[in-house]
Amino acid sequence: MRKAYFLLPHAIKFILVNLNGLYLKRKRYSGRFFEILNNYLKVDKDETMGLDIDKVKEITKHSPFYSITNKIDFFKSPVITKEIVKENYQQIINKDEVTTYLATGGTTGSGLKYPISKEFIYHQWAVYWKFRMIHGLDMDTWCAYIFAKSILSSNKKKPPFWIKEYFSKRLYLTLDHLNPATVKSYLEEIKKSGIQWLHGYPSVINSLANLVNQNNLTDLAHSLNIKCITTSSEMLLGYQRKNVESTFNCKVRQLYGMTEGVANIFECEHGSLHVDETYSFVEFIKDEDNPTQYKIVGTQYHNKAFPLVRYDTGDRVILDNDHELCKCGRKSRKIKEIIGRDVEYLLLKDGRKIVRIGMLFASAYNINKAQIVQHTKGHAEFYIIKGAMYSQKDEDELVDGIIQLLGVDFKYDIIYTDTLRTTRNGKTRLIINETEIDKGLVDSPFNFVN
Ligand SMILES: [Zn+2]
Repeated sequence: MRKAYFLLPHAIKFILVNLNGLYLKRKRYSGRFFEILNNYLKVDKDETMGLDIDKVKEITKHSPFYSITNKIDFFKSPVITKEIVKENYQQIINKDEVTTYLATGGTTGSGLKYPISKEFIYHQWAVYWKFRMIHGLDMDTWCAYIFAKSILSSNKKKPPFWIKEYFSKRLYLTLDHLNPATVKSYLEEIKKSGIQWLHGYPSVINSLANLVNQNNLTDLAHSLNIKCITTSSEMLLGYQRKNVESTFNCKVRQLYGMTEGVANIFECEHGSLHVDETYSFVEFIKDEDNPTQYKIVGTQYHNKAFPLVRYDTGDRVILDNDHELCKCGRKSRKIKEIIGRDVEYLLLKDGRKIVRIGMLFASAYNINKAQIVQHTKGHAEFYIIKGAMYSQKDEDELVDGIIQLLGVDFKYDIIYTDTLRTTRNGKTRLIINETEIDKGLVDSPFNFVN
């Protein structure tokens, strides 16, 4: 199917991408969607943490796996992992409510065929849109999306390297064709289309910024008057934010969401990360291995097809200890930092897990991209794509960082390269940990579309 698609003329691809856009628009933005979105906007400033036990009772009542009748039951119920969910799949699913299935990222194990309800799709897209609306974007705002999944044949040599999708108002620009020779045409297309919102994975947007800088196109980038850049699906690293913001002369705003819909965290106008308190019930549970970090454990309120209660996302946060209200006036909890998933750790020789590896690159401004691959405990390969200004000093700083974070006994190789490994849908993971067998990196269809 996919092979045949790439052989089609551009005009037919354009039609298919637009038909897909129409299909998705109808699926997401119909029924109760606008009512739900308005509700999220209405409660936005007043949301506070609190368990809505009635919602939990309502969504779990047709799933024999759970027996929750009050708050005491709730807090007594165990924290569940994806593995537990998979073992008890038939006891959790409520087939009458299933509209479709999504594949969820296999960060802690193999993928999960995840059933979702219609209502859940509306809620998920409503919280995403609430975040965008906070930053002045709405459903009529055109978005230039640097798209990591192939929609045009990779041996295409001449523009257009993009497809405009009119129903969702998106200009999909392909990552495959983005290089020093084509980057100018990308910026010119965005300018010609008058688009002032950019979206993509942090690593992808950062690559675009690097190309802009290396090809002296910063003036052209500034002339686009980009109002906002949004990122999702990966952690936004400090150096990426700095690089992208200065290249496009605007703010980058990040959203943490997930297919399972047990937690959503968004960046506000003042740069704080807030929990969407009424979307789901989010608990932060201390991680015994890393006492400064808290696991994100969440409970859905809206997916009757497959309710998840006290579900361990595998992600962690560092909490914001200043208890002052954010300048934005929201009363919801603030997070200092979101840390990657379970897969994003390195193992020391004695088996200890070290997370927060992204910190190594937080101020490494002369590195364009990095990826760490670990095959055996106590050893890793650091693949580095150098920036134009990279020097011995940068390597020395990286080595210092490795020793500080991982200790003197940790063995490492620094390998300079031009390409990094990507997942099936084009994501570049910071860490590829191959010390354990389960590597079922199934990608969410949401990545294709959000
Ligand atoms: Zn705020």
